[in-house]
Parts: sequence; structure tokens; C-alpha cells
Amino acid sequence: MNRSSQEPDPALPRRVLRPARPAGTRVTVGAVEVGGAAFVVAAGPCAVETPAQLSEAAAAVASAGAHLLRGGLFKPRTSPYAFQGLGEPGVALLERARSRHSLGLVAEVLDTEQLASLIDHVDMLQVGARNMQNFTLLKALGKVRRPVLLKRGLAATFSEWLLAAEYLLDGGNEQVILCERGIRTFESATRNTLDLASVALAKARTHLPVMVDPSHATGNRELVIPMALAAAAAGADGLLVEVHPRPEEALCDGAQALTPDMFEDLMRRLPAVLHAVGRSLHARPVPAANVRVL
Ligand code: PEP
Ligand code: MN
Repeated sequence: MNRSSQEPDPALPRRVLRPARPAGTRVTVGAVEVGGAAFVVAAGPCAVETPAQLSEAAAAVASAGAHLLRGGLFKPRTSPYAFQGLGEPGVALLERARSRHSLGLVAEVLDTEQLASLIDHVDMLQVGARNMQNFTLLKALGKVRRPVLLKRGLAATFSEWLLAAEYLLDGGNEQVILCERGIRTFESATRNTLDLASVALAKARTHLPVMVDPSHATGNRELVIPMALAAAAAGADGLLVEVHPRPEEALCDGAQALTPDMFEDLMRRLPAVLHAVGRSLHARPVPAANVRVL
């Protein structure tokens, strides 16, 4: 069948491309804006494990200057025998950390059933790499009014990633942030291969903010700081970083978790790199207890 030359090509994204919003999109997550001049850092454990683990992690990342707290409640694990996450009972732990430290919350939603238990409790819903082409989930998230962090699929091309974002915008949700987290290549020395060229390309071709996850991209805590700094230099709008108070005890992704000291070091080193590319670190949201009502 011949398509008329008038019809747009269905294989090409439309709404996510830069000409649709030349000035760029800014996405408000909790008390911070992603996609402006200021760089935003989301940090926290791969998975919410225990009350003590989460409260220590939240205190550490907040005092080092993070803006958002990440923590998975529902974990997409390769093995069915691995820790699957605390599920809904973990929501209260995240909410306590948010109110103590003024940290917006980012958590992954694996399917449409979990959406109801997360939507009113987190500030941004994460779509994991394994779910980038879960079109039923993308359509459901297109209908909600909550920011979505869309991870790039393990083996997704740049254009497949953009078309997945297109589902969200086409469904009516314009609060979308792309997240590069490494792709699978022939290289086995690192967990994945961090594709920073696609970060620069996404910034040029789309109007969406782009974050980088150097933790899943490398799988090795020694590589996280250099890749996080490189992401900032490449034009990313923010980071999603795994931090655990005691990585050796982590139930998930311990090898790539930064210790609190390493995270502090990263936060100390980021401003100089950001300054070199005309950006700055976002101000820390003021804790509610310190806001004086005049
Ligand atoms: C995560 O952020 O914890 C996660 C599972 O990431 P990804 O979907 O990128 O593997
Ligand atoms: Mn993880």
C-alpha cells in the first residue's frame, strides 16, 4: 500500500522533537525543575530494603546536596529468586524520608496494577529499561499527570527510545524526562556501555530533559564518578545515582552503589564541571521546617 505523500510517516516521532517546542521542556519534580540551567541529582539505594537502610541513605544523600531520592519498591530482577523489593509497604518509608529531608521521590513502576499504589505517593514514576517498550504501561502513563523518567531499553536504538517517549506525549503526558543508563554491547568489562553521544543527540533532537544513570551504565562503583562528571560535561540535565549506606550489605546492585563518602565527593566535584559548560547545580530545596511563614 502506498502512503500518500501528505501523510506523516508513522515510524518517525513527532511530539518529542525539538521543533515541537524549540525552547525545551522543563519538568517539575517535587520542588525542583529539570531541564533548565540548573542540574538536578537523584540519588539513593537501588531498592528500599529496611527502615534503617532507607533513612541512612536519605540522610546521606540529602546532606551531600541531592535533590531527589531514588529507591525501588518493585524490582525487575533477572532471577525470580532474587530480592523482588518491599512493594507497597515501602511507600511509607519513602514518604517519611521525603518529609524529613525535603527530597522529591523517584520510584519505578513495573506495571499498570502498581500504578495505583504509587501515583499519589511519588514525585516521578520511573519506567525501567526492561519496560521501555511495555506499550500498555506507556499508554497508561500517558494518561496520568505525574512526571515520568523513561529509561532507555537495554538494546533500544535511539529512535526506539524516542518513539517510546512519543507514546507518553501522544497520550497527553508532557512531563517526560529521558534517562540514558547504558546499552548492551559486545563489551563485557563494564555492565553496559554508556552512550553519551546519545545524550548529546537527545538534547539536540528533542525538547525533553535528559538524565544519566552512571550506576547501571557501568555496574562498578569505581567508574560511577568519572562517568557522572562526563555526563554533566556532555550536557545532561541531571543524574540518577545509586548510593547505599553499606554497599556490601545491599540486596540489589551493591557493586555499583556509591558509599556516602563517594557520593559526597561526587557532589563536591560536580560544580566545577557544570561551570565549565555554563551550568550550575540546582539549589537544595529548603526543608519545610525551615520555611518561615511571614
Ligand atoms: C533501577 O534504576 O533500579 C533499574 C532497575 O534500572 P534499569 O531499568 O535501568 O536497569
Ligand atoms: Mn539498581
